[in-house]
Amino acid sequence: MEKNEMQTHFRLIEPQKRALTRLGINTIRDLLYHFPARYERSGDQKTVAGLEVGTDAILYGTLRKPETRKSWKSKRPMSEAWLEDGTGKVKLMWFNQPYIAKMYTEGMMVKVTGRVEGGASPYIANPEVERVSTLPLGGTDSIFQTGDSEDELFAVYSESKGITSRWFRHAISKVFAEGIHGTLDDPIPAEVLERYNLPTLLTALFHIHTPKNENNYRAARKRFAFEEVFVIQIAKQRDRKTHDAAPTLIIEGAHEKAHAFLAHLPFAPTQGQQAAIRTILDNLSRAPAMSRLLEGDVGSGKTAVAATTAYAVVTSSPKNRPSATLQVAYMAPTEILAEQHFASFTQLFGHLPIQMALMTGTVCRKYPSKLKPGESTKVPKTQLLKWIANGEIAILIGTHSLIQKKVQFRDLAYVIIDEQHRFGTMQRKALVRKDGIMPHLLSMTATPIPRTLALTLYGDLDLTVLDEMPPGRKPIMTTLVGSSDRTTMYESVRRELNLGRQAYVICPRIDEPDPTKEMAVQTRSVLAEAEQLRLKEFKGYRVGVLHGQMKPAEKDTTMRAFLAHEIDILVATSVVEVGVNVPNATSIIIEGAERFGLAQLHQLRGRVVRSNHQAYCYVLTSSGKPSTRLKALEKAKSGFELAEHDLQIRGPGELYGRSQSGITDLGMEALKNLKMVEAARTEALRLVTEDTLLSAHPILAQAVAERSAKLHFE
Ligand code: ADP
Ligand code: MG
Repeated sequence: MEKNEMQTHFRLIEPQKRALTRLGINTIRDLLYHFPARYERSGDQKTVAGLEVGTDAILYGTLRKPETRKSWKSKRPMSEAWLEDGTGKVKLMWFNQPYIAKMYTEGMMVKVTGRVEGGASPYIANPEVERVSTLPLGGTDSIFQTGDSEDELFAVYSESKGITSRWFRHAISKVFAEGIHGTLDDPIPAEVLERYNLPTLLTALFHIHTPKNENNYRAARKRFAFEEVFVIQIAKQRDRKTHDAAPTLIIEGAHEKAHAFLAHLPFAPTQGQQAAIRTILDNLSRAPAMSRLLEGDVGSGKTAVAATTAYAVVTSSPKNRPSATLQVAYMAPTEILAEQHFASFTQLFGHLPIQMALMTGTVCRKYPSKLKPGESTKVPKTQLLKWIANGEIAILIGTHSLIQKKVQFRDLAYVIIDEQHRFGTMQRKALVRKDGIMPHLLSMTATPIPRTLALTLYGDLDLTVLDEMPPGRKPIMTTLVGSSDRTTMYESVRRELNLGRQAYVICPRIDEPDPTKEMAVQTRSVLAEAEQLRLKEFKGYRVGVLHGQMKPAEKDTTMRAFLAHEIDILVATSVVEVGVNVPNATSIIIEGAERFGLAQLHQLRGRVVRSNHQAYCYVLTSSGKPSTRLKALEKAKSGFELAEHDLQIRGPGELYGRSQSGITDLGMEALKNLKMVEAARTEALRLVTEDTLLSAHPILAQAVAERSAKLHFE
């Protein structure tokens, strides 16, 4: 393997090399951009005798009896050890990290940082351990060489196998001492730094790694957060510019077609649906190609918007090509959803001379059938592919299978993607036509995304919000249930079941216990809960289970059985969150609700507002006490309100995982700040407009290229 900059500059042992590679640290620049996880004050130091459950502690002492064993009940391996200081000893536990015990030896002098958990016998869960050469005497901070300030701040880096926080501190101070950081160019243009009063790269690097006070690292973190969002914005704005430069199909006369179609709908469209349809049709009638996100709560009627605009497209002709028949592709995240959409489309389009098809991994169907014109019929895939290629199929509905290479459309004009967060940017790009013509794109989601996150993650899309529910919907009745009210709750649910309705029970876990929690506060698991409910509260009812570890075919069978009312109660993890429509399900019990974000809880309860039956949602916590955070669920009008709530209370990192967004925790912090996101967006747009190739900003161009690679690797 070729040596990288880190390996030539530092004397590294194998485990360190591997750790750095794993962390993506190959250059000195990467190292300097590896920011501390947090800062500590020497004053947080405690003794074993002085520990308090529920607080953070820093302890110095000797490590005893490190060992690996299997955790209670679940088969997961864990590490254990004891920390001993002059005042007593305390247990250290690492869950799911068997290698930890092997990293430390009996009698090692260490500094331990972590949260004190447990009750009568406290322990420290998943602590960070740092080897030290001396133990502080009598609580003074003799190991932090600077003695003059009582509360010296120092950076703590997250540790992983093979590399310690201490290593980072030393390596970075070496870089500083040698002045290497001074050779790095600042990716943010100087005038932008000035405009927003942000520190330069040099100052910010110093202050984030070796702050003198809180203001130092606050300002530095703000700058790097801005930098991250700025770079993402540039990447997105550039994507948009490239997209907008491509030729597209200009669809004329779509408004009249849509009008005729709407007159045939079994219901009157809401104001919101009408406005969304108008915006989309306007967009289809001009260049550049549409790139739009339609956000609307579960049940707000996005399918009708999709169907109306799809109809307008397949019955219109593009300008200058009056004879062409245009095609629409409609992608759903699961087979069941694709089938449900196909079924609704055949109903909505049944009276019209339009050929439609369904294509999933397991089945291909065409509508109408030649023999029975009111129905669809199964067709061989090879035949369907021919019909798609020769343009006979106007609307193709399906799953990911729509974007396989062998699916060649004759004249694809419009792509609709349902629940787009399941689709990556790469997949979206795969839809571009061979002739370079850009089809119009409508991406639909019921996931309420805070504005800052939408502006960042979907910065290349225009946004339309559907914020009105069809009339006649009874608002869902949400109750926070304490442990003493369980009996009443089960009675109410049984009453609904006896009326012929169905119910969901959501649990946060599948089966193994949560190692970070004591037995008393274990959250409920799908398998155990289903067993329990079958024997007790729902004895005599048909109880099914659904969770993410089941095979796709098993999940599918279960969902179909629930849809066909062969199951009364579905005990599931949050896998039911996305899009399946079972209108007969009217109650949902959510266990361990403290484990979910508010927006996610809102999504979950959206499963039972699919009809005009009164719907009920019961929210329970593992401790049996409803938390104040959850009270927002009783009052909130929309998912957006709750998403904003989540963003402020829990932080975006927890809600929209790093892997999903490609944004670091630091970048996520920026998303709490609308002004910052807007500033980054404005500056990015200005720069991309003036200098699309960023030729005057090579360092920035490189940062954008690296970022794009990450964003597109989904
Ligand atoms: P979502 O936005 O979650 O995809 P759907 O499109 O599945 O919502 O619509 C939910 C239900 O509401 C469907 O049964 C649909 O037929 C119905 N619906 C949609 N729009 C209206 C409307 N304007 N009036 C009455 N019912 C409607
Ligand atoms: Mg939908």
